[in-house]
Amino acid sequence: MAMPLNTFVKHLSAKGKDIYVVDDHHKALAAWVLVRRSLDFAPNLITIDHHTDTHEAFLGYAHCEAYEGRVEGQEEFRVGLVARIDWRNDASIAEAIGNLRHDEHIDAATCSGVLDNAFCIQLSDSEGTLAVEQLAFEASMRENWPNPPIVPKPRRPMTYDPAPNRVYALPFDCFIGCQARPHNDDCLVQQSDEIIEARYLDDQIARGSEISRCFGLPGLEAAPYILDIDLDAFHSRRAINPEDPSTFYRLIKNALAITIATETECVEAEWLDDEDQMKSDELLQELLGHINKAL
Ligand SMILES: [Zn+2]
Repeated sequence: MAMPLNTFVKHLSAKGKDIYVVDDHHKALAAWVLVRRSLDFAPNLITIDHHTDTHEAFLGYAHCEAYEGRVEGQEEFRVGLVARIDWRNDASIAEAIGNLRHDEHIDAATCSGVLDNAFCIQLSDSEGTLAVEQLAFEASMRENWPNPPIVPKPRRPMTYDPAPNRVYALPFDCFIGCQARPHNDDCLVQQSDEIIEARYLDDQIARGSEISRCFGLPGLEAAPYILDIDLDAFHSRRAINPEDPSTFYRLIKNALAITIATETECVEAEWLDDEDQMKSDELLQELLGHINKAL
């Protein structure tokens, strides 16, 4: 029997805005499908997460099935599973959710027409999606080593090729204004403290817009989007209490809907302040408070 999609999500609403809370992040696929069904187009996604969440859909499951000898062509099997995702069909989505592993849900959603483009504000990969100029620079480094590269070190703004799965991890340097070279562990603490500060998000949105412009979208907020937040992006009480929440509130206000992953264990694993632990329940209450204030 097909599981109705609302069994995967807790549906809340604030001043008419739909909010979907899930425990495991990949269950957000159910919420995105519910939003998709209410529209005649696929919305974009802007996600704030510790992790990049940009793995290919069903990679873990396909690998496991191939490794244990139940499947011959791993990649063929994986691509077949993606092709079977039908967002009009509850049973198909429930099956997909059952077979998705960590960090594979965004690719699953973009490759099945649930989402259009996805932009990931994240803290685990400073390079993010590589620009054309960076790829050329790296190729030149490899070709000329041990001599210096012929291609100059790229500077922003840069250009990007559209990704086949339309998923983009936004690059970052550090917290805004950091002068430390190289960046260090203290940097990471301050950067994560400022994850939803206006100055940090403004910079992330500018970087994302540099990417989106390359496929004709003038800015990250120029097309309808779902705002998705994984609570493991917050590593301290400071982080969930920005001094200037204006940009974060604008992202909330203009979102079609909001999805939140509570990811209790990831929150614990990524937390950086031993003196002041917050559990994901408490973070969720703080976040819902922000959403209410923003609307
Ligand atoms: Zn730094």
